[in-house]
Amino acid sequence: MRRFFTLAALLLAGTSVAAPLTLRFLNVGQGDAVLITSPEGKSVLYDGGRSEARLQTLLRQYGVQGLDLVAASHADADHITGLIPAVTLFKPRFFLNNGIAGTTQTWQKLVAAAQKARTQGLVAKDQVINLGSVKLTVLAPPAGMPRNEQNLNSVGLLVEYGAFRALMTGDSETAETAGWLKKYPANSLGPIDVYKSIHHGARNGDNAAWLKAVRPRNVVVSVGPNNYGHPTAEALALYRKAGASVFRTDQQGTITVTVQPGGKFTITTERGTPVPANPPATRTAPAATPAPVRPANIPPTPAAPYYRNCTEARAAGAAPLHRGQPGYRPEMDRDGDGVACE
Ligand SMILES: [Zn+2]
Repeated sequence: MRRFFTLAALLLAGTSVAAPLTLRFLNVGQGDAVLITSPEGKSVLYDGGRSEARLQTLLRQYGVQGLDLVAASHADADHITGLIPAVTLFKPRFFLNNGIAGTTQTWQKLVAAAQKARTQGLVAKDQVINLGSVKLTVLAPPAGMPRNEQNLNSVGLLVEYGAFRALMTGDSETAETAGWLKKYPANSLGPIDVYKSIHHGARNGDNAAWLKAVRPRNVVVSVGPNNYGHPTAEALALYRKAGASVFRTDQQGTITVTVQPGGKFTITTERGTPVPANPPATRTAPAATPAPVRPANIPPTPAAPYYRNCTEARAAGAAPLHRGQPGYRPEMDRDGDGVACE
């Protein structure tokens, strides 16, 4: 009994030291994969890069024990391929995505893995997700984006912890960022302490109007050898003009951001010459309040996904839906056997 109490006291002592929030911009080559771990040990993987093997190695390297949610900014292979082993290994509760099915075998494989893991599809709808004490705000694609353009339907994620703010918006393009600028009130986005360069620094991603609102202090370009010219000189010039420090996964490997309670943070690089991080920005604007928001918690009360029909459920990778699973509705279960959208 005495032994038990000693152990309990040690465990308590261990948890009294406030753990940081970590964001890792994983070096997945040409692609995106961001691992977010809350002080409570809850983890989200936002995109998984283009290689199953590489992501699996990285998850092992960084000692990932579980994933509560995986998110696909959009369905392109350089973002979703690594989500396949992530879903298979950790069976996360949710798979957040833009609700537009990919047209590739990789997408099919991911959907099959999610079904097997009984991971629930969650279509981006401006949800607020509480990852322990970290607030995640989902930036759904604005209305009017053409459904056949995956980039223009990228799902963004705003991460807030104390005064710290990070933002990543997949491979969005100017039309989408313009839509977000209309939707979110002026000053509600920036300044952003750590910002993921849009679309690996492509020419049609980051633009002056968007960066004026975002006001990035530190930019991470997730990029590898490629034939697209990423990152472009234009994008790098925009970041320089914004006064941001630029970090690159192709030159510095995985970029790790460690955020202390309150919001002070440091940025460390796996290799290369470290770039000094720009310190936290002093915020004059009130905290972001993107509207509308629907609160959700992981766990215990996730935002229940709602699918109007089986096409939507399948697009979200949620089908088949079993009775009792979030999103299941008897109307979609025509034969009444407890399994909808078979
Ligand atoms: Zn991409």
